[in-house]
Amino acid sequence: MLTNIFDTAAISQFRTIIDESEHILLTCHKSPDGDAIGSTMGLCTVLKHAGKKARVIVPNAFSDNLKFLPQCDDIIVCENAETAEVQDLFDKADLLLCLDFNDARRTQGLQPYIENCKAKKVLIDHHLSPKHFCDLEFSYPEMSSTCELVYRLVVATGLESEMTKLSCSYIYMGLVTDTGNFAYNSSNPETFLIAAELIKRGIDKNTIYNKAFNTQKENSIRLQSCALQHSMKVKREYGIALVTLSQDTLRKYYYTTGDTEGLVNVPLKIPEVFCSVFMREDENCIKVSMRSQGEFSVRDLCEKYFNGGGHLNASAGEFYGTLDEAVNAYYAMLLKEKNNLLEYKDKYSNKK
Ligand code: 5GP
Ligand code: MN
Repeated sequence: MLTNIFDTAAISQFRTIIDESEHILLTCHKSPDGDAIGSTMGLCTVLKHAGKKARVIVPNAFSDNLKFLPQCDDIIVCENAETAEVQDLFDKADLLLCLDFNDARRTQGLQPYIENCKAKKVLIDHHLSPKHFCDLEFSYPEMSSTCELVYRLVVATGLESEMTKLSCSYIYMGLVTDTGNFAYNSSNPETFLIAAELIKRGIDKNTIYNKAFNTQKENSIRLQSCALQHSMKVKREYGIALVTLSQDTLRKYYYTTGDTEGLVNVPLKIPEVFCSVFMREDENCIKVSMRSQGEFSVRDLCEKYFNGGGHLNASAGEFYGTLDEAVNAYYAMLLKEKNNLLEYKDKYSNKK
């Protein structure tokens, strides 16, 4: 039913590694999103059903919106765990599965554990240009989400019968969150075939959408409204917008992880805007998020100006300095990218 995207030898090697492993550790990138939690927990529950001792460890805290499915309390958050406990998990593991990231540097405090881990390492990811830190790589940037890739891998490795309603629910969570509920990154009809298969297996699609994607705390709504009202700068002539949030404002609205989720997308609703930049003053750096529409690459901008990367239309990075300095860096970027922005703006307005 689905096109076979895999190399047969890689699949049989993966199946052999799984069969030979007892303790399997799954991990993902820092500030885990729906796809990171969905893919690690989705595959973890499949492996547990197949009789493996599987655990998920994530670098740091994640949004409450992603905590509604059973077993999410079993996730170990490295930042809050004892060093000895984390070390023990990595020492015991026969197999380390690295999901939804392309570079060990994306895993914050987990990076040294991952790099020094003696277990076999397998990469399962959909970001461009992976660093080669694993023994076996399933890197498919054309996938809507790592969850889509996990579904395909489970089927290809013959583990389909180990899928439960819970694993399907986690997988669906990543499909929904990485595609904006099938608004983008989902032009391949097979993504919908997979969604249909998951629905056939009894997932509660509406609840997953509402909990993971369409739930926002009152203080988060007020925080985001405040940011848009007071800080949004739209440069129509360049097709770009900037939104910022200072520590003062974040504190005023009792900010916790996940409260600014989705904010960066809002300026893209303005007809002339095809690129949106959001800067948040975190404890030790300025977090920079970018989103774009069409062929305009925010990955290039994040790589070039903000020590980051990601996907063509959704990327992020960091700036080390004050929020004012980060805003200055943004304006310096506009000057350097002026021709690039104006050229795309012409194309973009012709398209509309
Ligand atoms: P967000 O703005 O939601 O934090 O991140 C958008 C996308 O960029 C996600 O797919 C995320 O995995 C990726 N991303 C976030 N931060 C970084 C970074 O520092 N480096 C790279 N290479 N990708 C990032
Ligand atoms: Mn993803």
